[in-house]
Amino acid sequence: MDMKYVEKKWQDKWEKSKINYFNKKNTDNKYYCLEMFSYPSAAKLHVGHWYNYGPTDTFARFKKMKGYEVFQPMGFDAFGLPAENYAIKTGIHPKDSTEKNIATMEKQLKAMGAMFDWSAEIMTCKEDYYKWTQWLFLKLYENNLAYRKEAPVNWCSGCNTVLANEQVIDGKCERCGTDIVKKNLTQ
Ligand SMILES: [Zn+2]
Repeated sequence: MDMKYVEKKWQDKWEKSKINYFNKKNTDNKYYCLEMFSYPSAAKLHVGHWYNYGPTDTFARFKKMKGYEVFQPMGFDAFGLPAENYAIKTGIHPKDSTEKNIATMEKQLKAMGAMFDWSAEIMTCKEDYYKWTQWLFLKLYENNLAYRKEAPVNWCSGCNTVLANEQVIDGKCERCGTDIVKKNLTQ
């Protein structure tokens, strides 16, 4: 059997019929299956993404076959250090590299044949998304539920950024080996 032909045929059919799209009018028996969003810091997905999405998609399909109206969105968590470092390394503007990487990853994710609802796709680097996270944070700030203060962070002068505790190994940056210093930054 020609698997590439068969998979493409059915994936096209599912996309045309919108069978994997969440029906907002049918919410009596709804099920929200949310997994991590891909992080477009490098040019392509790696096999670990399949390892992650395969079982969740299997579970979502199981729920669908049990009669649930399943919402399984996909998106891209597209801000941060790896995108910055990739831009520094390649000399390509992060907006250009991120959007190009997303386009490649969309193709890869669609080729997986998972039942993602692509009509609900989000990209956290897009203004129409982050304006809401910023709005929400401002509301928390205005209502004294968030505050601004200097606090010490792990600073790597090699990567020119802050690291999480898990990224500091024996006092050094796990990526570049530079000694980490504690530095006060506004939080
Ligand atoms: Zn570093």
